[in-house]
Amino acid sequence: MANILVTGGAGYIGSHMTYALVDRGHSVTVVDNLSTGVRGLVAPQAEFVEGDIGDETLVRPLLRHRNIEAVIHFAGSVVVPDSVEQPLRYYNNNTMKSLTLIDACVQEGVGKFIFSSTAAVYGMGEDHPACESDEKSPINPYGRSKLMTEWILEDAAKAYDFRYVALRYFNVAGADPQGRTGQSTPRATHLIKKACQVALQRAPELEIFGGDFPTRDGTGIRDYIHVSDLIECHLLALDHLIKGGEPKVLNCGYGQGFSVREVVEAVSRQIGRPLPVRIAPRRAGDPAQLIANPSRIRSELGWRPAHADLSDIVASAYAWEQRQNA
Ligand code: UDP
Repeated sequence: MANILVTGGAGYIGSHMTYALVDRGHSVTVVDNLSTGVRGLVAPQAEFVEGDIGDETLVRPLLRHRNIEAVIHFAGSVVVPDSVEQPLRYYNNNTMKSLTLIDACVQEGVGKFIFSSTAAVYGMGEDHPACESDEKSPINPYGRSKLMTEWILEDAAKAYDFRYVALRYFNVAGADPQGRTGQSTPRATHLIKKACQVALQRAPELEIFGGDFPTRDGTGIRDYIHVSDLIECHLLALDHLIKGGEPKVLNCGYGQGFSVREVVEAVSRQIGRPLPVRIAPRRAGDPAQLIANPSRIRSELGWRPAHADLSDIVASAYAWEQRQNA
């Protein structure tokens, strides 16, 4: 069992990770500044430290005194249109603070690091599912802030006793099957979360951002991955690093895309009535299509998703949202 630091462990994906780790008997320390995280989502078995990963005077003693062996780094800002409006905030939160954290790891001899990267590093998305080796040309500051961090990791691994796995997440959705945590970020912007809120009549209608993309029905296409399957990717990456495995960059997606309209249909089936929608202008920074080619993570880490079904994802996101209502 290992001592693991989870940054952003009070956030959506980090809180699922923390539960998965404590369920397996690991000793987990969570650092989160609660800027968007929710204290109540942190697994009670984990140690919680409120603070900022950009604060070296906090992080270095934590790594040292808790004998941290591996860091799983989720803390960061994730909203593409916000990154277009406030690029410097994104470069600060996502790139500069990651640099500080990586530097602290190198200084303290913590040589295993898992990083939350993103499909947004690919940019426009090609007409084929994205391979890790495809050209990286992010079209928004969010994707650029994450790609820069990947480069920092790559160079650090060449120079120091430091190994990492960067996981490029496609569109993460759904919630813990046991209902312990889910997407709770205030002012949520992600499609499935917002559609569930409309389904529960907490918003009058869902805006579809763009009906004129060059896709099969004119709406944006994404590869939605259940958060439980994404967490499994991290557990495999952790095993890989603990066994002494080499640095890797891996896509996390199913290889199948759904349009916004197809997601709307899935939510409509879930509630047994049509979800009210309205076509709105395109959102800044949105590519038409992003789909993963997941061959590498399947062959190199043996990942086998267990929830690759849009209805499952929607049902679990909806169940969480209903619980929020109660
Ligand atoms: N989207 C939408 N209405 C919403 C939220 C999102 O039409 O209220 C679209 C968005 O334009 C994109 C897809 O849904 O095509 C997924 O967006 P999301 O914000 O969930 O994730 P992103 O791909 O931006 O990370």
